Amino acid sequence: MKKVLVLGGGTAGVETAIFLKKEGFDVELVSDRDFFYIYPISIWIPTGEVGLDSISIPLKDLSESHGFKVTVDEVERISASDMKVYLKNSGERSDFDYLVIALGQSKIKHEGIEHTLSICGSPQEALKIRERIEDLIKIGKGKIAFGFGGNPRAKEAVRGGPVFEILFNTHNYLKKLGIRDNFELIFFAPMEKPGARLGEKALKMLDRMFNKMGIKRFTGKKIKRFTQNSVVFEDGSSVEADLILFTPGGTGHPVIKNSDLPQTEAGFIKIEDSCQVVGFENIYAAGDVVSIEGPEWKAKQGHLAEVMGRNIAHNIAVKEGIKSGEPKGYKEHINIFCLMDMGNGGGLAYRSENKALLIPLPVIGHYLKKGWGVYYKLSKLGKIPRIPGM
Ligand SMILES: Cc1cc2nc3c(=O)[nH]c(=O)nc-3n(C[C@H](O)[C@H](O)[C@H](O)COP(=O)(O)OP(=O)(O)OC[C@H]3O[C@@H](n4cnc5c(N)ncnc54)[C@H](O)[C@@H]3O)c2cc1C
Repeated sequence: MKKVLVLGGGTAGVETAIFLKKEGFDVELVSDRDFFYIYPISIWIPTGEVGLDSISIPLKDLSESHGFKVTVDEVERISASDMKVYLKNSGERSDFDYLVIALGQSKIKHEGIEHTLSICGSPQEALKIRERIEDLIKIGKGKIAFGFGGNPRAKEAVRGGPVFEILFNTHNYLKKLGIRDNFELIFFAPMEKPGARLGEKALKMLDRMFNKMGIKRFTGKKIKRFTQNSVVFEDGSSVEADLILFTPGGTGHPVIKNSDLPQTEAGFIKIEDSCQVVGFENIYAAGDVVSIEGPEWKAKQGHLAEVMGRNIAHNIAVKEGIKSGEPKGYKEHINIFCLMDMGNGGGLAYRSENKALLIPLPVIGHYLKKGWGVYYKLSKLGKIPRIPGM
């Protein structure tokens, strides 16, 4: 049986490994973490609703459930032209027939970024956010700035949803503690209309929520740099804060940028609709590491990363003659599907070629997302059946 080496143990890598095993391949997954970190439900770490354990799945457990091998190691270099991968501890690897790259993305490094923390970073960074919020709660007052940036070279590499989610959750957490009035919550972003890709209805709803929650906004101002306690904009103005929670625009993973893989200006891998890397017969890539093609509002999301993973397993199986059928593409699956949590409810945002919907889900929205988290963990481990598309 042909061997597939999957690089990355996140949303795309795990889904690819599970489905490659279903097709009968010999699969080894390499990850620098020994657990799968479920980003969408990490938004409750800052307010202490969840700990790391409840939003992670040990890769060992996934390996036992699905039968793929796991190697915990760091990918240092990829040489696509001679099908070699270099790992920090295990050294050079070329003992595979197919390579799947699912290493995720990196973030743009603004001047003074070390003075900020992001919910879209490492699990340790999310814990640090929690610690800093708790420190301010102990003092009893504070000023917290929440923001996100973009990448002009890759407009789809923006992660605004989780920033709105931790902002609204923090508001509701402070309210529950009865100290919201002692805190100033600020939102900043360089775009004129942050969140616009969700559609006009979502923008209006966000606007109403900001007003209702008393959150000050600084939008349409390009960020120049950060200092320990301020965000400095290009027009010379600035915003002071005790804590700055900022998620920069995404950029290519350093391993990809330093490789011979075909890539965009921003360092994202160029792929065909089938997820095959352009010009490389036996190399595929999935998830945040790739450049996606589609409508102006396109976004990189977990469900798309999973579709890519499943398609890769199918497409390699078809190529190997294990099954019949046509190769499957990712482009027809581009949409935005997001249950945005607010701590005391939520909103279901959906965007496709013909529709832009935002359905407010007071109270129930929060519990739906909580329920999804439980379902996701159990279904990944094969303990309950998967619902198609979720
Ligand atoms: C806070 C947050 C909330 C989100 N909420 C939603 C949501 O509600 N809905 C939705 O659809 N999407 C959401 N997303 C987006 C979604 O999580 C991503 O699109 C998805 O995780 C991408 O999967 P990936 O496998 O490409 O990358 P990742 O999940 O980032 O996985 C990359 C993996 O590669 C590993 N890795 C990286 N570098 C190396 C290396 N050098 N060597 C070995 N291993 C390495 C990492 O440890 C990680 O396991 C959210 C993202 C964030 C950050």
